[in-house]
Amino acid sequence: SARNAVTVIGLGPMGHAMAEVLLDRGYAVTVWNRTASRADGLVARGATLAQSPAEAVVANEVVIISLTDYAAVDAVLEPATHALDGRVLLNLTSATPEEARAGARWAADHGAVQLTGGVNVPPSGIGQPESLTFYSGPREVFDRHRAVLDVLTGRAEHQGEDPGHAALLYQLGVGMFWTAMLGYWQAVALARANGLTAADFLAQADDTANSLTRFFAFYADRIDSGVHTGDVDRLAMGMASVEHVLRTNADSGVDTALPAAVVDLFRRGVEAGRGADSFSALVELMAKPGA
Ligand code: NDP
Repeated sequence: SARNAVTVIGLGPMGHAMAEVLLDRGYAVTVWNRTASRADGLVARGATLAQSPAEAVVANEVVIISLTDYAAVDAVLEPATHALDGRVLLNLTSATPEEARAGARWAADHGAVQLTGGVNVPPSGIGQPESLTFYSGPREVFDRHRAVLDVLTGRAEHQGEDPGHAALLYQLGVGMFWTAMLGYWQAVALARANGLTAADFLAQADDTANSLTRFFAFYADRIDSGVHTGDVDRLAMGMASVEHVLRTNADSGVDTALPAAVVDLFRRGVEAGRGADSFSALVELMAKPGA
């Protein structure tokens, strides 16, 4: 197939955005999706709709895969294994590192090579210059297909040969994302229970979120050197603070699962004898629970 031609399997919000930006940049795009109607707009713009996953895989050397999880990848590609020989699978599907490694071994067993990708932006960030994707797997494959990767997100970073590593980096970021967003949902629920709207709370939420990067910078060196001196933030102080947060939520009739989980972590730190240390000592407990 021509050099500027790719296949996209999976047209959820993410795969659809990828197919669109590839069409925008003049690529010949072959698509396949379980629910074929999701391809309608792309076909109207010149994409080719494959009739089966195997047909989609045969169409191009480079096959972008954007499905919900690796169970979906298995379901879609198992009937297409005969078509995989010589293919480059850019698998941008969320997975655990172990799943990504197993996927790469499975691809190799069928004569294909997998480059694992972890996309760090929502669909609106696809095609944007500042958007970042981590890739891991063979460097040579990353280099050879750099042009396509650069279309998907302006920043493509190769993060080593281990096909699980991009998945690990992705899970690090996405874990923080979900937890932080739930912290925000909790605050919005509490604000609403007290007559404030999300809009009323927005400026303060932004200030709080923006302050976090300074805390990361402050703690990173100390954590790496095992320094948890309670000079600015004793865990016992934090324990009292998170209990106030929990009780404020309870008093307002808001769900307490999240603030209660936070109190539980702080309590375990105090019970482990770290009350006079920095609350960063919790990292040690979280890294080795039960130690
Ligand atoms: P969705 O889950 O919305 O859709 C992905 C696709 O998976 C759909 O095309 C769906 O087909 C298909 N699919 C799911 N199960 C099966 C199955 N058993 N057999 C065949 N096809 C299946 O995901 P997104 O498009 O939002 O995201 C794709 C990947 O990118 C995910 O792994 C996600 O974690 C990751 N990601 C998403 C981000 C986002 O903001 N959306 C951000 C960063 C990463 P059908 O249309 O038929 O349902």
